[in-house]
Amino acid sequence: MTEPTLVSPLDGDAGERFDTGSNGLSPALLATLRATGAEVTDDRTVRQEASRDWWPVSIGWAAQGRVTALADVVVRPASLEQVAAVVAACHETRTPITPAGGRSGVNGGSVPVKGGVLLDLTALDRIVSIDETSLTVTVEAGVFGPDLERQLAATGSGYTLGHWPQSMDLSTVGGWLACRGAGQYSTRYGKIEDMVRGLTVVLPDGSAVTTEGTGPRAATGPNLSQLFVGAEGTLGVITSATLAIHPIPAAEQRLAFGFRTFDDGLEACRRILRRGATPAVLRLYDEIESERNFGVTSCVLIVLDEADPALVEATMAIVSDETSEAEALDPDVVERWLSHRNDVSSLAPLWQAKYVVETIEMAGPWAALPGVCTQVLGALRSIEGTVVASVHQSHAYTDGACLYFTFVGRVSERSSEEPYGDLDAEETYYRACWDAATAAIDAAGCAISHHHGIGLNRARFLPHALGSSFALLELLKEAIDPQAIMNPGKLGLGERSIW
Ligand SMILES: Cc1cc2nc3c(=O)[nH]c(=O)nc-3n(C[C@H](O)[C@H](O)[C@H](O)COP(=O)(O)OP(=O)(O)OC[C@H]3O[C@@H](n4cnc5c(N)ncnc54)[C@H](O)[C@@H]3O)c2cc1C
Repeated sequence: MTEPTLVSPLDGDAGERFDTGSNGLSPALLATLRATGAEVTDDRTVRQEASRDWWPVSIGWAAQGRVTALADVVVRPASLEQVAAVVAACHETRTPITPAGGRSGVNGGSVPVKGGVLLDLTALDRIVSIDETSLTVTVEAGVFGPDLERQLAATGSGYTLGHWPQSMDLSTVGGWLACRGAGQYSTRYGKIEDMVRGLTVVLPDGSAVTTEGTGPRAATGPNLSQLFVGAEGTLGVITSATLAIHPIPAAEQRLAFGFRTFDDGLEACRRILRRGATPAVLRLYDEIESERNFGVTSCVLIVLDEADPALVEATMAIVSDETSEAEALDPDVVERWLSHRNDVSSLAPLWQAKYVVETIEMAGPWAALPGVCTQVLGALRSIEGTVVASVHQSHAYTDGACLYFTFVGRVSERSSEEPYGDLDAEETYYRACWDAATAAIDAAGCAISHHHGIGLNRARFLPHALGSSFALLELLKEAIDPQAIMNPGKLGLGERSIW
């Protein structure tokens, strides 16, 4: 599967956003890497392409023909053994490794800020086995979403993982696990951390470990799979995973409602979940996003469930009960969402027109959500340059939900001579928005991310956000990766001030 091109290919050589401090790899190390059997390339164009992801800062630089950071070499292993040999060689020579899947991450997680090896895992592309009796799949880390779902659907009576991130076409199983990702149907199927049953991981010294996976809900000490879920490649390389699957559901129903206010809609969502109903999709949009996406002036709630017919009936009965005060909308609204939900083509024209466009997602308990919503929107709107700031609730659970803020700003005038405007001003505006929004989220006692993770962009916030447990994360990093070669500069570990 090929990744779609984000922006015009990099053709410039105008320097790097981050000084990697690298003097290149030695001929001896290059020879050792080649001897592993992995594909190895030091071609500059390939390295430039592989050294960025969907973080708007790296996209902005790529659009200017510039590079955020440049890996010394791109290595593409095709087996666990090759990954282990590559990592061992890097360990021997203290060479930084940045693991990468689809590079759809939006926080610069796979940007190689210290140069070294960009470890492209997309050749680990096999589905190892499907257990139709116990409902699990074992899959290599570089498999892209559509390939996994296609193979599951074609097996026996048909199965699904139920993990449908908006970036389905762009992202891999390893990236989902590394970032603790969420699919759009997470209220029924859970997030990726709920689906994982076991992992195979190559540690920073090149040794391989298998965690869990021998029986459900084991009480065999701490769950070590979860140590690597959300670690964003800082503790090891995930090479394969065993995940829970489901028979393709026999029934589906859709409903849509319009609420007078966003808070009224949040309250209805809370009550639905509280009664034990878990519709796969329960998404609520504020007035701005309802108008933009559906041409509706109230706050739109879309509901979709899929499961056994008896479960769907019961779920939708509870939904109807708890939304009786709202206006019933034509369920075609849900169809409109379904048909556009993975379409990201509207972003490129905004970037090209020099707008800064970004999304900030977070998770919080129900009690905090109305307040944090007001605070974050207020903070974003108060920053000079902001054109619009809006919000939707994207994933809901019994104890709280994910709020997903979008802001659009314009800080530099575009002239015909200077096609890409003033990148410094844009970065300053961008950082100011992130600082203000994250401060509001933190102050409300909420989690600074629900599914996009930390990467480079949120690294400066993590020590404060984790409080006393950040020291534990540092201890784990020191114990597992004492040479700090695995994905340096991420999760706020090591040098704090890189970005
Ligand atoms: C348009 C768009 C929509 C998106 N929608 C969603 C969404 O709905 N839900 C969601 O959760 N996310 C979403 N994202 C964010 C992104 O797709 C996810 O974070 C995804 O999980 C990243 O997967 P990837 O394979 O692209 O990983 P990459 O971007 O390549 O890597 C992400 C991080 O994981 C690490 N990593 C990757 N593979 C491995 C591995 N095998 N072992 C160890 N570490 C590894 C990298 O070092 C990096 O730190 C979206 C992104 C875009 C651009």
